[in-house]
Amino acid sequence: RAKREGRARVRFFESETDQELRDRRLLQHDLRQALEQNQFLVHFQPQARMDGEVIGFEALLRWNHPTRGFVPPDRFIPLAEENGLIVQIGEWVLREACREAASWPRPLQVAVNLSPVQVQAGDLERSIHQILLETGLAPTRLEVEITEGVLIGDFTRALNLLRRLKALGIRIAMDDFGTGYSSLSYLQSFPFDKIKIDRSFISNLEATPQSAEIVRAVLSLAHALNIPVIAEGVETEAQRAFLAREACEEMQGYLVGRPDLIERYLDLVGVTVERRLYA
Ligand code: C2E
Ligand code: MG
Ligand code: MG
Ligand code: MG
Repeated sequence: RAKREGRARVRFFESETDQELRDRRLLQHDLRQALEQNQFLVHFQPQARMDGEVIGFEALLRWNHPTRGFVPPDRFIPLAEENGLIVQIGEWVLREACREAASWPRPLQVAVNLSPVQVQAGDLERSIHQILLETGLAPTRLEVEITEGVLIGDFTRALNLLRRLKALGIRIAMDDFGTGYSSLSYLQSFPFDKIKIDRSFISNLEATPQSAEIVRAVLSLAHALNIPVIAEGVETEAQRAFLAREACEEMQGYLVGRPDLIERYLDLVGVTVERRLYA
């Protein structure tokens, strides 16, 4: 009887949150098999100078779930961070991205996102070093993108790791700049090689006058510190023109190209279809 009451009570308090919690558990369970069942793939999105010349690609992880189809990274990466799977998954992305880039005839750069959990947990430096040796990619062609989350937690550990990666020749970019609480203070603690202005400021450029001022301010700060800037989420020619006028160095967004299988961008990396097929 008590049990039945308990159950009734559970049902009484059952809410969308419980539903979400169950769904999260299911996804988290499915994530465990995703690697070995080859459900992950990497999309590549071009990064270009303001004149449109492509200088590299960002690797973006995709999960093709057997029944749900593509699950967005913003949904599953937090789950993989929660249960620690992101360490293995992140290493897989790094290896895929480096192997792919090493096969390009043009020595373009490849940028890979790092999770705070990867930085704090595994032996990231060793695994990156190992992957570079294994794939033959020059460290100077690899850029890692971190958010301020990486520097929260064990700050000293994160800082030392970033320093050692930089000493290997790897570049460090600060992602989603302007969205965190303390982006500015992190600029003084580490010599970032690039700042990525968050997409939210770019998409509001036309509609919100404040956004234009914020973008100008970020550019002027970054330039005073000698750090080049890439604008995320550039979708229109008007946005590109504004950024070019304000001396932003690089852009990434649907205007240049969407994230997609590298097959779509073979011409840009200098691969002919024949070469790809018979490689
Ligand atoms: P992010 O690193 O800031 O990546 C940029 C996001 O903006 C990507 O979303 C990209 O598809 C999207 N984007 C690029 N250009 C445009 C545009 O012009 N318009 C619009 N509306 N969106 C644009 P995506 O691929 O869904 O990834 C979301 C986030 O998931 C990433 O944000 C990153 O934080 C995380 N993520 C993706 N792959 C990985 C990974 O391999 N490891 C880790 N740790 N995180 C990853
Ligand atoms: Mg990124
Ligand atoms: Mg970003
Ligand atoms: Mg983001």
